[in-house]
Amino acid sequence: MDLWYTEKHSENVGITLKATRTLFSGKSPFQQLDIIETLEYGRMMLLDGLVMVTERDEFVYHDMISHPALFTHPCPKRVLVIGGGDGGSIREIMKHATVEEAVLCEIDGLVIEKSIELLPSMACDIDGSNPRVTLHVDDGLAYIREHQDAFDLILVDSTDPIGPAVGLFEEDFYRLVHGALKKDGIMVAQSESPFYHAEIQKNMYRNLRNVFPIVEMYQAFIPTYPSGLWSFAFASKQYHPVRDFDKARAAARPFHTRYYNEDLHLGAFMLPTFARENIAP
Ligand code: SAM
Repeated sequence: MDLWYTEKHSENVGITLKATRTLFSGKSPFQQLDIIETLEYGRMMLLDGLVMVTERDEFVYHDMISHPALFTHPCPKRVLVIGGGDGGSIREIMKHATVEEAVLCEIDGLVIEKSIELLPSMACDIDGSNPRVTLHVDDGLAYIREHQDAFDLILVDSTDPIGPAVGLFEEDFYRLVHGALKKDGIMVAQSESPFYHAEIQKNMYRNLRNVFPIVEMYQAFIPTYPSGLWSFAFASKQYHPVRDFDKARAAARPFHTRYYNEDLHLGAFMLPTFARENIAP
């Protein structure tokens, strides 16, 4: 019998993928974790029934949460990822030779453990083999409270604002992030779908503008996320992602990126009108 998995994007719309088998299904103290094998998108991780990553389209999300900030900051050395227990963001950060240390702070140890076991193409740098990577199983809020003025970049690779991630969309958290960044630091956070999550975006960008002098939204196309149109918030103390972007440095990158490139970096910040309106001050 065929196995079909549906994630509901709203009350009336969803995405359905044909699956062949369940590789893991279990509950942590924080959430339900399932990893299933799909026919078209490879292995797929779900948290509380929502798609987190698939092997086929994860390159879009992980390129775009990491490289725009890594190529805007002139010399990122210390990078923190909050969430991101699948390891995909850390894998991309590790492509940058300037980065001396990347810290992963993921609240759920089960996500890390099962990603290492079942999603090795993403978790390749969080399995203990990379001396530049440090893992902390902790709440991101608690971690940054203890690590002020410490990072060049902070990437918030979190779940939606429900469950353990609620606090990661609030102004108090952004103030802690601001303090945990060095004086020219940059934060990037996944900021949901402009198509389905206008209200979340409105609040999130208002909270960010109350804390950071530079706040911009950029977009990426991710087929398995609601509507396919996804967004990221770029919040910065000093560097602007378009005006201070060194296009030649990005063009000369000594590694391959399947989605990110120096032209797309600039284009991603050009928003459709309805998305601009979602975050209008
Ligand atoms: N790419 C995904 C997306 O946008 O749908 C997100 C990746 S998923 C691995 C995000 C991770 O954030 C989850 O593993 C979850 O446990 C973690 N997370 C949620 N709240 C957190 C918190 N307060 N501190 C640290 N990690 C958190």
